[in-house]
Amino acid sequence: MARHGLSLIDIEQAFGTEENCVRYLQAFRWPDGVECLKCGSKRVSKFQTNETQREITNKKGETREVKVPARILFQCNQPGCRHQFSATTGTIFADTHLPLTTWFKAIGLLMNAKKGISAKQMERDLGVHYRTAWHLNHRIREAMQDGDGSLFGGTVEADATFVGGKYDKRRKRGPYGKQAVAGVIQRKSDEGHSKVRAFPVEKEIISVMSTVIRENVATDAEIMTDEHGAYASLKKQGFKHEIVSHTKEEWVRGNIHTQGIENFWSLFKRGVVGSFHQVSVKHLHRYLNEFSYRFNNREDEKIFAMTVFNLVMGSALRYKVLVAKPSPASDAPFASE
Ligand SMILES: [Zn+2]
Repeated sequence: MARHGLSLIDIEQAFGTEENCVRYLQAFRWPDGVECLKCGSKRVSKFQTNETQREITNKKGETREVKVPARILFQCNQPGCRHQFSATTGTIFADTHLPLTTWFKAIGLLMNAKKGISAKQMERDLGVHYRTAWHLNHRIREAMQDGDGSLFGGTVEADATFVGGKYDKRRKRGPYGKQAVAGVIQRKSDEGHSKVRAFPVEKEIISVMSTVIRENVATDAEIMTDEHGAYASLKKQGFKHEIVSHTKEEWVRGNIHTQGIENFWSLFKRGVVGSFHQVSVKHLHRYLNEFSYRFNNREDEKIFAMTVFNLVMGSALRYKVLVAKPSPASDAPFASE
């Protein structure tokens, strides 16, 4: 299969220097030329600082030395302002002391990992601390979101599944401690390839699934589901609804099937099992976003640019929010690794 988007080698070549990364961010942030972040003046000059050491203190009052890499800065030349800033000021990139080249490499790793990548793997590939890798991983994953909330149309498959948890073999019962996940997939059409959306939900019940469908699918769409009771009211709600009866061992009847969404579930589960071992429920929506985003943009060469754009311009996911509780050490998705 042809590879789309930027390979890791492309990224290393294009973004191997801080200068190149800054120029890339700069173009997103100031398409009409750099403007002072304080006064808006375009009389701005560019200069470079050398690598320095800086002491940082955490909440517990412990201090440690961190290396502040050589940086490219801008200075406003407006008399009375003279503000200094960088292409990353006020963005998520400024929250770490990492060189932009490391960030870009991390983005490249996530874009290219079809089944996702663990922070452990990222730690090895980037040569950074585990904690750093874990935060990069989560922050980038957060930026992997399709902003456009347009309704799916044409032929749409809807389904739900369970992720995580354990099977109780003794009681031969369904999964417990599992998280229900709902998804819809718009099948490939003349307008483009298939697209998926998936979210953690409370349960696969009629009220939940009806909401998921109403919020994501146009009423003139044709919906394919299995025979689960959660979809019993779709016809009443005005959707064209076709059912495959899995309990009767019926999987495909002509074009009536839910193979698309089921393939997505298995891709997601393989990724979760293969790369992550276990995913904490708290972070599940991010993993689902990541997998959907890669799936939806698999033929789009702009996926890298889009992710960087989301990171620069989107709201920063603050370290504090992310690790509010419990601590990352105990909550890391594969702490057992
Ligand atoms: Zn200024």
